[in-house]
Amino acid sequence: ARLQADSARASGLEERVRQLEAESRRLSEEVSTDVLTQVANRRGLMQAFEVEQARCQREGGPLAVGLIDIDNFKKLNDSLGHTAGDRALKSLAAAVRDRLRPGDHLARFGGEEFVVLLPRTGTEEAQQALTRLQRSLTEALFLYDGREVFVTFSAGVTGWRDGEALEAALERADEALYEAKRTGKNRTCAA
Ligand code: GH3
Ligand code: MG
Ligand code: MG
Repeated sequence: ARLQADSARASGLEERVRQLEAESRRLSEEVSTDVLTQVANRRGLMQAFEVEQARCQREGGPLAVGLIDIDNFKKLNDSLGHTAGDRALKSLAAAVRDRLRPGDHLARFGGEEFVVLLPRTGTEEAQQALTRLQRSLTEALFLYDGREVFVTFSAGVTGWRDGEALEAALERADEALYEAKRTGKNRTCAA
């Protein structure tokens, strides 16, 4: 009887350990994920970058870094309200994620800014991919009060240079993004 009781207790503990492990995985995923858009947050981005950087150094080959910023987002918030703004962020993140390739990474970098990491992709190819993505967002993202809401974004892309920090590549991408904004928005520039 005692053996049986011990064995029952042991399998109970095993079950508890499995539950705790699952919970721990869930929490770790949670803090790497942006709550609003359900894509990676900055922490998730750094994790993805670590992996891609290591792969690049092992295999060689390019890694494109893109910075995306929603166009005229302040106007959308001001005219339709913050709730509509939040819906735009969610819908845009989902639309971009759906159109990326399986190995690509999308992260919310800040308010209305997103970062993409495109493994095995040269800068020119990345620029074309993001431009195609912009052209494919010609349908309304969602309806607000029965009205169609269209959202566009501008982007800057650059190639990650071996050994540099992600922040350095993002600074170049930001300069290209600025150029895209300056020259009419809803376009992608490269640096
Ligand atoms: P541009 O085309 O030059 O990028 O203009 P913009 O209006 O998009 O850029 P700006 O940086 O002036 O405004 C960004 C706005 O994004 C301001 C802020 O209120 C809004 N924003 C940032 N984070 C959130 C968020 O989580 N939810 C909502 N609804 N709005 C946000
Ligand atoms: Mg911005
Ligand atoms: Mg903006």
